[in-house]
Amino acid sequence: MENKIKDIKAWQILNSSGLPTVRVEVEADSGVKGFANVPNGTSKGKFEAHELKDNNQSLFMGQSVQKAVDNVNNIIKKELVQKDVFNQKGIDNILIELDNTDNKSKLGANAVLGVSMAVCACASNCLNIPLYKYIGGMSANIMPTPMINIINGGVHAQNNLDFQEFMITPAGALNFFEAMMISSNVFYSLKNILEKEDKITSVGLEGGFAPDLKSNREAIDLIIKAIYEAGYTSDDVKICLDIASSEFYEDEKYKLKGEKLELDRKGMCEYLSELTEDYPVISIEDGMAQDDYTGWRILTDELKDKCLIVGDDLFTTNPKLLKEGINNNIANAILIKLNQIGTITETMETIEIAKNANYKYIISHRSNETEDVFIADFAVGVNSGLIKTGSVTRSERVAKYNRLIEIENELRGKYLGINSYFKNAKNNCKRCNCHG
Ligand code: PGA
Ligand code: ZN
Repeated sequence: MENKIKDIKAWQILNSSGLPTVRVEVEADSGVKGFANVPNGTSKGKFEAHELKDNNQSLFMGQSVQKAVDNVNNIIKKELVQKDVFNQKGIDNILIELDNTDNKSKLGANAVLGVSMAVCACASNCLNIPLYKYIGGMSANIMPTPMINIINGGVHAQNNLDFQEFMITPAGALNFFEAMMISSNVFYSLKNILEKEDKITSVGLEGGFAPDLKSNREAIDLIIKAIYEAGYTSDDVKICLDIASSEFYEDEKYKLKGEKLELDRKGMCEYLSELTEDYPVISIEDGMAQDDYTGWRILTDELKDKCLIVGDDLFTTNPKLLKEGINNNIANAILIKLNQIGTITETMETIEIAKNANYKYIISHRSNETEDVFIADFAVGVNSGLIKTGSVTRSERVAKYNRLIEIENELRGKYLGINSYFKNAKNNCKRCNCHG
């Protein structure tokens, strides 16, 4: 069966931060279309694929992406018209060869990924099957456990918290919808606490609260309080952190504003290790900086049996970087962001490498998102079992959760909860006293 690509169009749209990004439409011969919007990061990894911007200060303060749009309309389209829309791998390889750089800097990863995703969406629409089924076939049957961002810090908020994301994951939920209900309950319990303490309840880029607090520890204390006040325990709801430590690593020191600490890599490892002793922390992302490989090794040795050690800036969804990490026993999980690498095929390749090495893989949004729900279907399609897509507020985040609720109703997929992904997890929460 074949269905040839008849037309490809791209144009600029706005993302959730009011800045331009690329939208692509792919039309097959049959007239069926597929669409995709490309997200953008704020705290980008050094080795991410290149997002092509116009750098013209008179257009969106230099942020417009008309060149990437033109590359789709003028260069990519010519090469892909008449190609089979079901040949995702073949199409992605044409895109990779056409760009012919290590980091998609010629055409722009925003141009390339928009096309790669829109081709995939068009193909599933041609078959009239849901995207997750097109991606995963019969094996797509697991609902992902969400990691829900409820306090924002770092470069995602204008507050004084060093850590970028303080997340909760409803370990005790029976299904995806219940996971969302528990998360919403904890979110509003936290709002109540912040209000009582006269703290700001406005939100950061990913929809979590962004209060000024004394320290990262205070943020976790408030979350623990919120979990208990909502009627749960740290058995039901666990904590995931995205430290995004490359943002505050300078002169080989981790500089924590709140705690007023300047830690070397050993000190940073101890600091994070203490957090896992004191709180029910089950996942730590980018606990060490992307340039601090030695730090990563120390952290992995120390905590690999206790929690997920997730590489985001470290691996940037790049198959080569992940392989290198696996060979060096670095981390035990990877964050997967399609726009860090630029095509679906390369993303799948990275996921295969992770799977074979028994690394967990978490499908992730970016801080600047759109209403596109591709990653919700993608998470189910590749059976990631884990997804990170922001808070329970802000529609560009909630759209993904709502799509997952729809998929759950249709698929009746299994919901496993984070404990099943991390069987060694202890009830490590001295601080909240729930286990004596
Ligand atoms: P970004 O943040 O999209 O701003 O890079 C997300 C993350 O670090 O996980
Ligand atoms: Zn991250």
